[in-house]
Amino acid sequence: MPEIIGVDLGGTKILARLVDPVTGKSEGRVKKPTPKSGPSDVLDKIVTVVDDLDPDRRAESVGIGVPGLVTESGVVTLCPNINGWDTPVDVAGILSERLGRTVAVGNDVNVGALAEHRVGAGQGFKDMATVFVGTGVGGGLVLNNRLVAGERGMAGEIGHLTTHPGGRQCGCGQFGHMEAYAGRAGLEAEARRRHAAGDKNELVRLAGDGRIKSSFIAKAIEAEDKVTLELIEEAVQALASAIGSMATLLDLPLVVLGGGVVDRLGQDFLDRISASEYFGGFGNHVCELRLAKRLDDAGVVGAAILAADS
Ligand SMILES: [Zn+2]
Repeated sequence: MPEIIGVDLGGTKILARLVDPVTGKSEGRVKKPTPKSGPSDVLDKIVTVVDDLDPDRRAESVGIGVPGLVTESGVVTLCPNINGWDTPVDVAGILSERLGRTVAVGNDVNVGALAEHRVGAGQGFKDMATVFVGTGVGGGLVLNNRLVAGERGMAGEIGHLTTHPGGRQCGCGQFGHMEAYAGRAGLEAEARRRHAAGDKNELVRLAGDGRIKSSFIAKAIEAEDKVTLELIEEAVQALASAIGSMATLLDLPLVVLGGGVVDRLGQDFLDRISASEYFGGFGNHVCELRLAKRLDDAGVVGAAILAADS
């Protein structure tokens, strides 16, 4: 199997490795800070990183995971985590010319889903989805062994399904989305709101003025803090409702869950989601929930798999 270059473009760093897309094994490693001066400097830096990693041109294709919305042809339409990226950029077109290699570009959460599908917890499944619960909630969709990105790159964005009509405001500005209940940032905002309104809680006590980290959530659950238990129950309902509906709509046999909050709360959290009455599907449909494998460098491996599939 020829090697493929996987690139993980993040808000703070660009990491590239040579990857065997069948086994997921990687070698070589070049890492540079992400320029803060806009997309054209970011693309220059990716060219440098790729040349440094593979000066002898062993790899003929490059896959890149990007923290933004990416169309199926590799145009990055929105990239809020990278300074100055406020207009669409044809990353695949520009870089394939400059690198003289085939270039595939995908959303970072989507390529993470591909990594789980091919070399992680989803191995052997034709259809599956991933749900990553961290600060927000992202997701990726693999149908018939292919990543589904959607025309505008929004397929799999499960965090923005409405689970509580008219409910809390989401980071995206709309109301009642699952992410506002299950994402760490949504949970934090609600815990602070209740604390300030007199409903004192362990989450705010533990975090003080700092971020309410996933480890604090786990501690507050252990201490059986009333507000925390209520917020977690709402998070479970939101996740169960969104995942159950998605699994029914697409007839998914498997959903893989990961991200900071899931990593910390573990299998118990998954068991609560699948036991929730909100998880119910149509007829006797059963969808298994599994913990993500937490692969090393999932971003670069998934990006390389995307390039291998293209
Ligand atoms: Zn939203």
